[in-house]
Amino acid sequence: MPVARPDAIRRHNLALLLGQVHRDGELTRAELTQRLDLNRSTIGSLVADLTELGLLEEWVPSGGDRAGRPSHVVGPRQDGPYAIAVDIDVTHLTIAAVGIGGHVLSRHTLPMDPTPSPAELVAKHIVAAAANVGVEVDERAWPIGIGISVPGTVDWHSGTVEFAPNLTWRHEEFGAMVAALAPPGLRVVVGNDADLAVIAEHVRGGGRGSDDVVYLIGRIGVGAGIIVNGTPLRGHDGYAGEVGHNVVDASGPQCHCGKRGCVETYVGENALLELAGRTEPVTAGSIAAVFADAAAGDERASSAVRAVAAALGRTIASLVNVLNPERVLLGGSFTEVFRLAEKEMMEALDSHTMGDSRNTVQLCTPRLGDDSSLLGAAELAFGALLADPLVTR
Ligand SMILES: [Zn+2]
Repeated sequence: MPVARPDAIRRHNLALLLGQVHRDGELTRAELTQRLDLNRSTIGSLVADLTELGLLEEWVPSGGDRAGRPSHVVGPRQDGPYAIAVDIDVTHLTIAAVGIGGHVLSRHTLPMDPTPSPAELVAKHIVAAAANVGVEVDERAWPIGIGISVPGTVDWHSGTVEFAPNLTWRHEEFGAMVAALAPPGLRVVVGNDADLAVIAEHVRGGGRGSDDVVYLIGRIGVGAGIIVNGTPLRGHDGYAGEVGHNVVDASGPQCHCGKRGCVETYVGENALLELAGRTEPVTAGSIAAVFADAAAGDERASSAVRAVAAALGRTIASLVNVLNPERVLLGGSFTEVFRLAEKEMMEALDSHTMGDSRNTVQLCTPRLGDDSSLLGAAELAFGALLADPLVTR
């Protein structure tokens, strides 16, 4: 059996400690000793290393413990690294500086052009906006990388967006485009919006503590991020989870992907607006208006929400039959569909699932609200640092 070298063990323990603070926030040295099952002097030396690396800091809170002894608290530094997280949606783009622990330090939302913008133009906007969020954080803080969430299929290795139907992007080497414009040395990583959302919810939201979670995102596009046995399900190329383009009826409505009768054409935001009899384009305002009307008892809006809820219930039933998840989180516009028409969704789920997996699954709303994909993009950007804190400088 190979014997681990002392520096390999140290790197491993540094990653464990940093990961613990990143996931759980400020912790006392005593809590770290207990959680990592290491002795006090090892914890003390790891904290000293992470402080020297500019990642964490420790302080003595006023008051001390019950016996009046000061108990050191370890937490992220204000002047430490931050991720530049970007969430691209069809209607708007959110960019934020996110610190260790998932704290949003500054953020901007920019409207996207109603006509989909070319990838090169969006890349330019991102790099310009990244500079703006950078000036709003502590001036000593430093960017660790750019993580980008995209509503489309993404090659995880290259950051190439293979197909984002609602942005009309096909095979765009988007990660490379952003990296070419960004300051040298800044790592750029790109992921699918639902894949990133489920990662963030698993780390610090509604999927925490569960190893089998599905996050369904409802925007103009529809997709799933899936965690199976505690691990993100990517598939061979990284394209797993495109449930929005499963065909329900081959003679159904035309989908932006080129096929007919995809799930998205029944439950996506365009479908919701159309069912509600509205002709304006999808915006945060037009979708909110449908939900407000439905909540106020307007029959057409209510029946649109109920129809989407029933179709969504059938989609969830297929996922439950295949994956047997413990939790299904309903993000984007699905959050409100679930709140307003839970009964219709549950009835569809009940009548289209088979066996005991129906009894285990819980439908819930994401705890990170609309920020799941954004915070997942930050997780992506922090990935290399969390795996090995010594790569920092
Ligand atoms: Zn489709």
